Amino acid sequence: MKKVVSAFFILLAGIQLNAQEPILAAVSKEVAGKEALVTGVPQQAAYVPDFKCDGRSGKVRNVILLIGDGMGLGAVASAYFANGEQLTMTSLRSMGYACTQSLSSFTTDSAASGTAYATGSKTKNRHLGTDKDGKPLQNIPEAIAPAGKVSGVVSTDDVHGATPAAYFAHQTDRKKVAEIWGDIPACRLSFISAGSRKLFEKQASETRSAIESRYKVIYDPSQDIAGAERVIYLPPTVKTGERGNYLPETTKMAIDFLAAQKSKGFFLMVEGARIDKVAHANKLDELVNEMLDFDKAVEVAVRFAEKDGHTLVIVTADHETGGVTLKSGSSHEPGSVAAVFAGRGHTPIFVPLFAYGPHSRDFACMQQNSDVAQKILGLLK
Ligand SMILES: [Zn+2]
Repeated sequence: MKKVVSAFFILLAGIQLNAQEPILAAVSKEVAGKEALVTGVPQQAAYVPDFKCDGRSGKVRNVILLIGDGMGLGAVASAYFANGEQLTMTSLRSMGYACTQSLSSFTTDSAASGTAYATGSKTKNRHLGTDKDGKPLQNIPEAIAPAGKVSGVVSTDDVHGATPAAYFAHQTDRKKVAEIWGDIPACRLSFISAGSRKLFEKQASETRSAIESRYKVIYDPSQDIAGAERVIYLPPTVKTGERGNYLPETTKMAIDFLAAQKSKGFFLMVEGARIDKVAHANKLDELVNEMLDFDKAVEVAVRFAEKDGHTLVIVTADHETGGVTLKSGSSHEPGSVAAVFAGRGHTPIFVPLFAYGPHSRDFACMQQNSDVAQKILGLLK
């Protein structure tokens, strides 16, 4: 009997071992992730505005929405610690979260989330400015034009990239590049800047001449745009490490241009597009650099809002990328940070949101990405 019992336990132990093997393997894979360390990050001063206009209930004349593509809390925290525990975005006092799920997927892509931020309606992945059935959705620039307000977009992505294109295109697939460029002539944007001159020159000649008949197309920011009603600025490149201070400088250029129009206010979307791209590649050093570059654009927006008093600034993301978290137990030296990437794709976790200016408190809550646009529309229309 004893022999039978011990044989039974040996068998049972064997079964358990076999059953545990694949589970253990799966767990260790996920826990390990991909670790990365970055050191020697040049420190960048964060800008802390006065908060005189912050949270007031008064009129909102302008809205500047800054979208860090793929910017989850891990990306923000990586840049924050690598930069001596300071960022302009984290110095703001109204903070919330945005849920990014799309109608077709728990994990959104930039087209569906970009559309939610641009129109106030959720849609399916890949859809750009169209609902789940492919019908065009009215975007913020179209909705506020009748109220005498002008709009612009600035991005470190291509012009036809999902986030900027959500503000002018109405296509059922973000991959329809020629059609997306073809939507520009009829759109309501007064200022567009993104990549690149070369891409523009690759488009069909009818598309190019239709764009040129409505927009002043420039390739150098020092070109004279005084008196122009609509401008497209196409730099030679928007790539990481090649574009210099393009993002903060073009954010300033867009604000100056839009504020100088004879209008009743403006809406500007600024995208730090390459936070997503470098997080896909699990490159922590470039992630920190892209985050700090994006934070400079945030500073430009906040400085304008502080001076203006009637401008609302919102900083958020379309989704998280890379499942970025900080490495447990690593000592924290100035200019360095250690992080772990859980994967190479987008994740469905909600994203942080920071706001400054009148009505900033409206955004200090848990909300849907589409709610953010609904609230902007409510304030601007
Ligand atoms: Zn992505």
